[in-house]
Amino acid sequence: MSGILIRGAAALGDHTEDLRVRDGIIVERGRLSVEIGERVVDGDGLIALPGLVDLHTHLREPGGEASETVLTGTRAAAAGGFTAVHAMANTSPVADTAGVVEQVQRLGERHGYATVRPIGAVTVGLAGEHLAEIGAMARSSAQVRVFSDDGQCVHDPLIMRRALEYVATFDGVVAQHAQEPRLTEGAQMNEGVLSGELGLAGWPAVAEEAIIARDALLAQHVGARLHVCHLSTAGSVDVVRWAKARGIAITAEVTPHHLLLTEQLASGYDARFKVNPPLRRDEDVQALRAALADGTIDIVATDHAPHPTEAKECTWAEAAFGMVGLESALSVVQRTMVDTGLLTWTDVARAMSSAPAQIGRVNGYAEPFAIGSPANIVLVDSSTERAWSLDDLRGRSVNSPYLGERLPGRVMHTVHRGVSTVVDGALVDADLVVAGHEEVARG
Ligand SMILES: [Zn+2]
Repeated sequence: MSGILIRGAAALGDHTEDLRVRDGIIVERGRLSVEIGERVVDGDGLIALPGLVDLHTHLREPGGEASETVLTGTRAAAAGGFTAVHAMANTSPVADTAGVVEQVQRLGERHGYATVRPIGAVTVGLAGEHLAEIGAMARSSAQVRVFSDDGQCVHDPLIMRRALEYVATFDGVVAQHAQEPRLTEGAQMNEGVLSGELGLAGWPAVAEEAIIARDALLAQHVGARLHVCHLSTAGSVDVVRWAKARGIAITAEVTPHHLLLTEQLASGYDARFKVNPPLRRDEDVQALRAALADGTIDIVATDHAPHPTEAKECTWAEAAFGMVGLESALSVVQRTMVDTGLLTWTDVARAMSSAPAQIGRVNGYAEPFAIGSPANIVLVDSSTERAWSLDDLRGRSVNSPYLGERLPGRVMHTVHRGVSTVVDGALVDADLVVAGHEEVARG
């Protein structure tokens, strides 16, 4: 028997209770006494949240192993309190066939740090010209439900229409990277006064907002679900709010970095702050926070985008777009949304666990700590604060915008399907995680 008793943690930051985990399942909650053979986790002073679910992770494998692998990326995920991640399709080869998505899913299963749900490409090679094998990926053992050309926008309206029609037949969703390509050719940062002063090509807000508006109308026209990746502007919030008011089946995500950082950071030409979509104005940050608080934006997703050092330690124009974010996501959300009074921990559990699981059709996350559900649990110490350092980055890449920044909160324990992946703030060794899952499987 593999059992864990989590004692005295504040469930969803609210009432204190004990949770009993056995054979990978939450079997009991309330005031509980230790049973023989159980490992006790002291949750005193900690907040218990359901395991976090990321709808937007770049794991880079296959093909980008110098930046990240399924193993290193899921270790970073566990360190950040995630128990499930959706792996973006812009790998090499691209995840546009059943073979690639099954390979990625198998690697996640083998390592056991987090459940890996592959995202399938919308178009072959992300080239935007021909639909990928969407049906074959959906029917594969990976059971893909989310499709995205992320990194690229599905800009051809007819291709987008066909993709929406196709995924609607099996309850899938298209996750759009909303970036009108002609309006953003050569773009380097948010378009505005500052981009003019810095001499960097501007990235207008309308390039994002126009695609979201078009796709919302297409989704309505064909009766499909649309998910919008990484909203970054106040105008995008307005468009999503309008679409929801019309009853369109649209969901939207915001990244932690767009909830905290602004375009001002570009003025040092430090490429750690170069990201797609770009950091925007303070008014945009405030609008994104308000939209997450009022439910216009459904979820937080990391857009964890690892890059090797040489892709960032170069000129701004040459540098790659993207930031790592799995390890820091919950801390940034605590700082921007919880410590500001905009969200409760119950709201955080929805925005970072049950709602992304619902969009991605991941089972077992509908109700936090439900008896009989898979034991995916994270325990957080929200009372602590520290300067973010290289020790906090557990993936293969270190392109974090928060190094040296003080951030609140610390993930102390992560449990994935009944197996501890983080204990007392430290990652559990890979062989012990594998052995833990084998023990759970034996029952
Ligand atoms: Zn993207």
